[in-house]
Amino acid sequence: MSEIKILHMYADMLDLYGDSGNMEILSYRCRMRGIGCKIDKYSIDMPTPDFSRYDMIYIGGGADLEQQHIANDLLSCREGIEKAYKNGTFLFLICGGYQLMGKYYRDADGNDIPGLGLFDYYTVAPDSRRKRCIGNIVVSTNITGEEIKIVGFENHGGQTHGIKTPLGKVLYGNGNVSKGESEGYFEKNVIATYMHGPMLSKNPEIADYMISYCVHGDLSPLSDKLEHDCRGVMLQRLLK
Ligand code: GLN
Repeated sequence: MSEIKILHMYADMLDLYGDSGNMEILSYRCRMRGIGCKIDKYSIDMPTPDFSRYDMIYIGGGADLEQQHIANDLLSCREGIEKAYKNGTFLFLICGGYQLMGKYYRDADGNDIPGLGLFDYYTVAPDSRRKRCIGNIVVSTNITGEEIKIVGFENHGGQTHGIKTPLGKVLYGNGNVSKGESEGYFEKNVIATYMHGPMLSKNPEIADYMISYCVHGDLSPLSDKLEHDCRGVMLQRLLK
């Protein structure tokens, strides 16, 4: 039986809107196929993990304050994360975690929280904390070779610029910038997105894309009727 190993970073600090739920979905979809799924947790002050041992590194989202709290610790992990990523470890990043893999996140007061700079993008918050991108979002992506309309929920002030390879095209909502055209960041072993917790429960194809990448092979199909029906309702409501 194959097994995937995931490192979930800062689950105690970066877990807005149930971002940890994405781990439940990956684990469930592996279990249904007889694939093992071992999830280790890492947070501030724990011994530095051997990042290269993992098939996937996952970081959720958080408010500015939590991002500030973890920033230095994350920087101390830079070398290990970069090496793992370059060796093919999958990076799955939500909102605050997404922002901190870029060059920096500049908050509403103009203070920079340094990012790891693995990617060229950078994020700047608007001058007013009240200007936020909040609500449902629909994004069209082709990462599996077929069009998937991803349904999600976003809540961020930060406006992310300099994205050359987005996760998809915004059909409803904002995405990387207010009223933007593109959402997230994508490489074959990176999915970074502003879509929070329910992302994988609503969009099982994205979960399977990642599992398939990690096991280096095709997956047996699961019945996703409920997921497709739920998504259908949202698409009808939002894209009508
Ligand atoms: N603090 C960041 C922002 O507002 C990230 C928020 C989040 O992770 N939801 O842009």
